Amino acid sequence: MPVLTQPAFFKTPSRLPKSVTWGLLVTAIVFLTGLLAYGLNTIYNDRMARSKHQAERELMAIGHLQAEGVTSWREQRMADALALLDDTLLAQAASTWFKSATPAHALPVQQRLRILQERAKYVAVFLVDDQGQLRLNADGVITQRLPAPEQQALQSAFTQATAVAVEPRVDAMFAFPFFGVIAPLFDGAQATGAVWLVSDVRSTLYPMLDRWPTPSSTAESSIVARQGDALIYLSPLRQAANQNLNVRSLLTRTSDPAVQAVLGTRGIFYAQDYRAQEVIALASAVPDSPWLVVSKIDVAEVMANTQQRELLALGLPVTLGLLLLGILLTLWQRKAWLRERALKADLQRNMRWLENAQKAASIGYFSQDVATQRFTTFHMADAIFNTTQPGLMSVTDWQALIHPDDRERTIALHTQAIKNRQPLRTQYRILHDPVHDHYSDHSLRWVETWCEVELNKASGHVTHLLGTVQDITERKQTEEELNRYRADLEQKIRLDPMTKIANRRALDEQLSAEWQRAMRQSSSLAFLMIDVDFFKLYNDHYGHTAGDECLIKVAQAIAASVNRTGELAARYGGEEFAVVLPDADLARAQDTAERICQAVRSLNMAHAKSTAATIVTVSIGVVSVQPVFTPTSPRTLDASSGDTTTSAMPTGVQRMVNQADEALYRAKQTGRNRAVAYRSGQ
Ligand code: GH3
Ligand code: MG
Ligand code: MG
Repeated sequence: MPVLTQPAFFKTPSRLPKSVTWGLLVTAIVFLTGLLAYGLNTIYNDRMARSKHQAERELMAIGHLQAEGVTSWREQRMADALALLDDTLLAQAASTWFKSATPAHALPVQQRLRILQERAKYVAVFLVDDQGQLRLNADGVITQRLPAPEQQALQSAFTQATAVAVEPRVDAMFAFPFFGVIAPLFDGAQATGAVWLVSDVRSTLYPMLDRWPTPSSTAESSIVARQGDALIYLSPLRQAANQNLNVRSLLTRTSDPAVQAVLGTRGIFYAQDYRAQEVIALASAVPDSPWLVVSKIDVAEVMANTQQRELLALGLPVTLGLLLLGILLTLWQRKAWLRERALKADLQRNMRWLENAQKAASIGYFSQDVATQRFTTFHMADAIFNTTQPGLMSVTDWQALIHPDDRERTIALHTQAIKNRQPLRTQYRILHDPVHDHYSDHSLRWVETWCEVELNKASGHVTHLLGTVQDITERKQTEEELNRYRADLEQKIRLDPMTKIANRRALDEQLSAEWQRAMRQSSSLAFLMIDVDFFKLYNDHYGHTAGDECLIKVAQAIAASVNRTGELAARYGGEEFAVVLPDADLARAQDTAERICQAVRSLNMAHAKSTAATIVTVSIGVVSVQPVFTPTSPRTLDASSGDTTTSAMPTGVQRMVNQADEALYRAKQTGRNRAVAYRSGQ
């Protein structure tokens, strides 16, 4: 049996197709997400730009500070050296010692060298002769040759008569990188020698480059200088694999910030450093020197910090928003879910009720497919149609089920409904196959079907006949019983219970009807009033029970004497009877009356007390009239009597009865056991 979820004809059309609703929803979500992404991206980019500016400002401040420190450090060294140029006392003392190298002559020179070394914090201070030989330091006499670069510087110092610096470098003489300045000593116009001021750059100069107020893993400052077609690093590259001093780089690598600096770029700029990393760089020149201080920091680090901060700042409200949205969605979903669950429970309950109601009312659903000529049956329809294959039935099977007397009519009605596209309601009988009979006690069932047609929207043709089928056998049986009972009752209220012939009510109705008919057809109507002779005496003599039996026999005899259509014999009351003879003239009526008299006599019931005969006899008053239409007569009540309950007997009828009564009276008077006709004027 197919599961009856919802028959097609119960479906309610939704306002919008589901796909359109989903499409709109997805478009709205995509649009809103796009809008949100655009907004967040704009905010993010704005903040990133601001962060870059901030990083540039910081780099500028720090870089300048470092450059200033480096500048003043170098200026101090140069100033110390230049001051020696004017120190004539030292020049003379040195000159004296060169001429006569006695300890006594060495002492003033040594003192001066010690003062220089200690006050200005030089790592070493040497007295150099004009041949480039180291001769004396603060501790005593030494014999060593100036390294080559310093030799060159000495020559320059002598020729230029000024202090000459040798850029920071490493040499076997010292265990640290050093910066040296050669200050020539002039005794008059004669250069007598020079002082070599040696500074340990690792402990005095480089720490200034390392000072970085904000913690950074990529920030770095270097001192560079141009050397021909190359640049030379005068401070170690902390992030390079090779941390040696005096690393050289070709000026063709123009993307390098240091190269750009020596080529003239100043201030803040973006470049790619020796590690091929994007950096923000600052180049500052150290005045009166070939030095340039280049400070840089990786863009990635600046951005990473900012990204982290900004993502946190933006992510927090977005996360909160999403969380809130999630909670709202969950609540909404939960509400929808609860609502759906309640609806489902309702639907299931209703379906159960519907199913029970169908069972209780013996109603089933079916659908007749016009194209395939097949019936699909649901639930009770299977039981009602007694289908061999649940859920399915061919049209031939269905036709075979129909009672032969109803078959043609039912098939025609179905065909007509499909043809005219009209609803159909009909009742017919079906015969169940005894083998598959669900109703084992009855093989004949009455069913009632209500059908609607289902049309193909495009073509307008009927595709299905959808309907309900109800087993109404019990209803039909009840109806039939009721009809029988009603007919029985109808008969009973018109029957005299004792004599079993028509009673007064039936007589009145028949009289009125026949009166109307006679009037319409201009025919005659006869009426007989019959009375048992000396019946009081019969009762008195034979007893009341015998009287009853006598009345029954008389009644049967009278009834047996009238058998034409429309003729009626009735008990008028007590021991009086009446007969209605439609379409009978007086002669015919008299004839019937005589036959009745004879029939009663033929009963041959002894009546010892009768003076009319020795047996039970009757007297009959006979009347025959031709009813004529008068405006007041036909259906009006007897106005004079004012009695509306006796019957709706027309005045003419009443008059006819009275006339029969009069004739009866005459029969009694003239000896009884006879029939006397009414004649006017009697
Ligand atoms: P008459 O020849 O003049 O008609 O004389 P009668 O005795 O028949 O006249 P009356 O009308 O005086 O008497 C009728 C009697 O019929 C009176 C009543 O007891 C009797 N009777 C009426 N109905 C019944 C009945 O149902 N059963 C019996 N046993 N007697 C009845
Ligand atoms: Mg009587
Ligand atoms: Mg009588």
